[in-house]
Amino acid sequence: MNTLLPTAVVGSLPKPSWLAEPEKLWSPWALEGDALVEGQQDALRAAVHEQHRRGIDIVSDGEQTRQHFVTTFIEHLSGVDFENRETVRIRNRYDASVPTVVGAVEREKPVFVQDAAFLRSQTDQPIKWALPGPMTMIDTLADRYYGSREKLAWEFAGILNQEARELEAAGVDVIQFDEPAFNVFFDDVRDWGMATLERAVEGLRAETAVHICYGYGIKANTDWKATLGPEWRQYEESFPLLQQSSIDIVSLESHNSRIPMQIIELIRGKKVMLGAVDVATHDIETPDEVADTLRKALQYVDADKLIPSSNCGMAPLPRDVALAKLSALSAGAAILREELTGALV
Ligand SMILES: [Zn+2]
Repeated sequence: MNTLLPTAVVGSLPKPSWLAEPEKLWSPWALEGDALVEGQQDALRAAVHEQHRRGIDIVSDGEQTRQHFVTTFIEHLSGVDFENRETVRIRNRYDASVPTVVGAVEREKPVFVQDAAFLRSQTDQPIKWALPGPMTMIDTLADRYYGSREKLAWEFAGILNQEARELEAAGVDVIQFDEPAFNVFFDDVRDWGMATLERAVEGLRAETAVHICYGYGIKANTDWKATLGPEWRQYEESFPLLQQSSIDIVSLESHNSRIPMQIIELIRGKKVMLGAVDVATHDIETPDEVADTLRKALQYVDADKLIPSSNCGMAPLPRDVALAKLSALSAGAAILREELTGALV
């Protein structure tokens, strides 16, 4: 990637209303069978088109082929009963109906590799594919078999590594693991969370990223954030470990957050995918607001290591809002790019 400050979207984009009910997590598909596959591919094409048109440099699938960033992956594994769902509390914040592990988990066939190959065929730009991280996976299911969060996380790490290697072979340039649970279960992160993440990226030649955030812009998360006090320092727990890890890119939330910017000094040397548009508000950032956030970050990260991005996935947002935020993101990055290259001449 030769572009300075290449822009990227963290994860999901809203789906078209003919594919799934908008502004809703775990929204059921509106199509079935072959029509569903065709619909998902059309939605993915549209997501790529919008990213091209709005100046996003590292292109993603916008998660158009999955109902949810964690459960869709889990539902493709054997040992999981996804018809008898159970209600569990996600990251100690909100209840959700999730699949249940009832036997040894195994990946009998690739989960997203065909979808990634399809994305690869739609763009010549670098592509990024997101997978759930092992710790976030175990936090988004009910376990009636292993009886140990750590043991199940190691099983998932091995499975994720198989999938990641095949995504890499399909031409994915950046493989991202979503670990919002790293901002909640600090002891587990230290004891085995980082180690299972390292297992998931073992042997990969593609760039690797981990996304840690405060969650989608839904009420349960914004209510939780309101309890976190004037400064959010959760990243201080995982960043020193990540700095020592083999992960190439750390993706974090920043714009409109109460996270002290100097916290990214803790991952000095890593690439930083910085959230410069908020996903918890329908207000569209101005390019100057985006540029301000990026400019502040540049005190703590070298310009050739900064990737302007969104704070989190945008699935719960209205489609027009999410797309306008993509345009704001790239316009803000362009302002900074001009400042930086002007300064170099
Ligand atoms: Zn997120």
